[in-house]
Parts: sequence; structure tokens; C-alpha cells
Amino acid sequence: MIFPRIGLEIHIEAKTKTKMFCNCLNEPNENRPNKNICPICLGYPGTLPLINKEAINKVILLGLLCHGEVEKFTFFERKHYFYPDLPKGYQISQYQKPIIKNGKITLSNGRVIRIKRIHIEEDTGKLYHYKDYSLVDYNRAGVPLIELVTEPDITNSQEAYEFAKKLREILVFNEISNASMEKGHLRLEANISVSKKPDRLGTKVEIKNLNSFKSLKDSIDYEIKRQTNLIKKNKKIIQQTRGWNEKLKKTVPQRAKEEAEDYRYFIEPDIPPLLISKQWLNEIKKSLKKTPQELKKDLKNKYDLGEKTLETIFSNKTLVEFFSEVEKKAYEIFKNKASEVIKTSFNFGAGVILNLMHQYPIDASKLKTEEFLKIIELYQQGKINNLIAKKLIKDQYLEGLTIAQLIKKHNLDNINRSIDIQKIIEQILKYNKSAVKSYLDGNEKVLQFLIGQGMKIAQGKIDPKTFKDKLIETIKSTKLIKE
Ligand code: ZN
Ligand code: MN
Repeated sequence: MIFPRIGLEIHIEAKTKTKMFCNCLNEPNENRPNKNICPICLGYPGTLPLINKEAINKVILLGLLCHGEVEKFTFFERKHYFYPDLPKGYQISQYQKPIIKNGKITLSNGRVIRIKRIHIEEDTGKLYHYKDYSLVDYNRAGVPLIELVTEPDITNSQEAYEFAKKLREILVFNEISNASMEKGHLRLEANISVSKKPDRLGTKVEIKNLNSFKSLKDSIDYEIKRQTNLIKKNKKIIQQTRGWNEKLKKTVPQRAKEEAEDYRYFIEPDIPPLLISKQWLNEIKKSLKKTPQELKKDLKNKYDLGEKTLETIFSNKTLVEFFSEVEKKAYEIFKNKASEVIKTSFNFGAGVILNLMHQYPIDASKLKTEEFLKIIELYQQGKINNLIAKKLIKDQYLEGLTIAQLIKKHNLDNINRSIDIQKIIEQILKYNKSAVKSYLDGNEKVLQFLIGQGMKIAQGKIDPKTFKDKLIETIKSTKLIKE
């Protein structure tokens, strides 16, 4: 037996207004090189860095969402190495005292992946290499970078994939980071070792350059196989850093791993220690939202929603926010009858709105929760059918019309007088006695004719299914009376 053990090291660009230690904009979409730079992020002598509170808040928020412990007293350290994209010759980071320790994320198979630490540091600039020269852009230098390190608790590529996905959901839903992998907001590294004994770790190999969830998965599978083959042949595994080559679909050696002492860490003398007070922590706790997994579970339990509906809602952050507003508003309007309306809103509305968002990707949807709920209520009462409900939602979405305006636009004013389905049925039964008799004699086809008559009278403004059910119910009860 071979036991693989995988740990992840993840760098996350925090979504903040300004950089980590200066007032330059943190603007990942800036394409003019060296636009957002100043003497502080370029490391000029004599400048003094200042801590960005917003960035610290995001780290603490992430830590709390991952059930971690917040360190009350922390400080920054300098991590030295030489590279042209690092203007100071060192990176301000945290080594001995990360802001967060001992977190965890639980996977769907029940495995708990422990998070060893989450700390804050600064990002580097970017190098652009050409044929015989290179250019450097420092727009990204000094951008707040969150580093999260897990314990080697992951045992296969699927678990690593799920961990990364779950983390990404937390980051996006809580606006800690945009977490786009293509744009490099989220960068993954995996430490992989295999061992013949379940309680002992093998020699660790680190894989870098993983810029998609797929390459994370593929590279882990490849590396487990490579190391397993070496072990089976009784060959030594070398501790090293390898890169993932997407074209060749294999890992290739990059360099022998440097040890911590190579970085000559020492405490950053220009920044005083950071004290995180109880009061500060409580402020962040107040703003704490639930994780997407917790929200999903809550909704499922409260409204008995299916997996498909939940998946639709959680495929899009705007939808999640919209429906959480819908839920709140429904209790205001419908009080103790809210849960049925909410259930229909979710089951019927989520797909409709998601489609609209794909078809008409407008920034600010005009959709208002209150008007949306009124449309759903009409639909639920069978006063409008699903096609008309979809039309109304679309008009609301595109034009922001109120329910009164919608009713006028679609000539639905008789729904205000509320179509009395029972009255229509009585009318039909009265004038179509032979058809009713034929139905009672077993001619099922005649039912379609009767429904058609009803829809004609109601001008299509009632839900055919509700009408059909009521019609059958009435015919049967009339029959019972006669008998
Ligand atoms: Zn700056
Ligand atoms: Mn780092």
C-alpha cells in the first residue's frame, strides 16, 4: 500500500481599495504599467510603511470563516530574497506569528482538512520577458496577499480540488478576494509526498505554477504516480520544487528547496506590532456572513429545496443576494404564510432569473424583491400561468415596472377583480351538460375541450393545471351529490 499526503499552500490577492502598506490603488485591472506606484511600495530608503486595516479585516474574516484562532498580538517580518520583481530586496511578511492559526475546512466526505496558518504579506511586481530584454511592472508590488497553508491532511487529487473550490466560494461570497484563477488572484501550490506507512510522511515535493483547478488535479495525480513508481523501484525521492508543464502534462524539476533560514527572516523594524483588540474582533464578527455551504444547508432544511434549485441559486453571487432579500421581504409581506411563497419563488424563480441574467447581462438588475414576490403570489394562486409569470418577471427585470404597470401593460386588469375559477367552472358545466356526461361515462378526451372553454372565458389568465384540478374536483363532487 502507498499513502499519499498532500498539503496546499495558497496565495490570495485580497480585494482592498489600496495596497498593503501605502495609499496606492490596489487595481488588478490597471494595464498601464507602473501607474499605481509610490516611494513606499518601491522601497525607497527613508520611507515608512503603514498597515492597511481593510486588508487585516479580510484576513481575520477568512480566519473566522475557516474556524481559525485569531492571534491577538502579531508582528511583521522581512523575508529576504533577490529578484527583480521585488523592489525592496525583501518581502514584508509574517513568519513566527501568523494572524490566524488552527483553522479547518470540512469536505463532503467528512474529512477535516486542518489549516495550519493564514498570514498577510505583500505581492511582488510582474516581469515581462522578451527576446533579449525584460520589463518590470510594479502595479502589483505591495498588493495585500493572504497566504493560507494547510496541514498535509489531503489524500488525493479530488479532495485537493474540493478544498480549493470550497475556499474559493468562501473568498468570493465574502468579498475577501475576486479569486479569479485566470487573473492570478488565487495561486495554488501543492506539497506532495507518498509513504509506505500511513503514519509517516515521505519526502516532500512542491509543485508550483498551478493556474487552474484542473492543473491542480492533474499535477497531483501525475506526481503521486511518479513518486509511487520511484518507491516501488526502491529509488530515492529528492526534496525539490517542480513546475507543472501543462503541454506535457507532467511535472518538471525547477530547483532544490530552500530552507527557512535562507530567507534570513527578521522583525520588520519600521512597523510596530499589531494588536487585535476584542472590540475590533467583535466588529468583524458582527459582519460575519455564513459560508455558502451553511447557507445551502439552511435553505434546504427550511424550505425543503431540491439540489437543482440550490445549485442554480449558488451558481451566482447576485442570485444568492437577491434570494436572501426575497426571503426577508416575504416574511414582511406574507408573515406566517411566507414559507410557501418563498419555496415557489426559489423553485420557479431561480431558473427564470438566471436565464435572464445570461440573456441580458445588465449590471444593475431592476428586479425588485417586492414586485417579484407579488408576481410569484399571482402565479401561486393560479391567477396567471407560468408563461405570463415569466413575461412579467422579464419586464420587471428589464424595465423595473411595478406590478400595477405590468398588469396594465399585459391587459391583466381582471386579475385585480380576481378571476373566480369556481364561477367559470359552474358556467361551463351549465352549458356543456352533454360533454360532462360523456366525461363521466369515461370519455377522457372531452376534458381537454372543457378546459379549453374555461381558458377562453378566462382569456388565458388562469393556470391550466390549477383549472384542470378544480374542474375534475367539481365534476366529481357534483356527481356524488346526484348519486
Ligand atoms: Zn505605493
Ligand atoms: Mn508567501
